[in-house]
Amino acid sequence: MARKVADCRKTPSVMNCTLRIAGEEEEVVRAAAEHAVSVHEHQDTPELRRMVRESLEDEQPGI
Ligand SMILES: [Zn+2]
Repeated sequence: MARKVADCRKTPSVMNCTLRIAGEEEEVVRAAAEHAVSVHEHQDTPELRRMVRESLEDEQPGI
């Protein structure tokens, strides 16, 4: 199963964050939501997790 990637560089942000998280979808959603809360001062809401989930991309092998 391909891993999913959440890439902060592709998310509108005021912090020029370069974090990239890869793993299974549920792992990435959880980690990215926690990161968004701790670093980007978002509220951890179902809406945030939905936005994270929609922003996920398939990991490109070999990168
Ligand atoms: Zn970030």
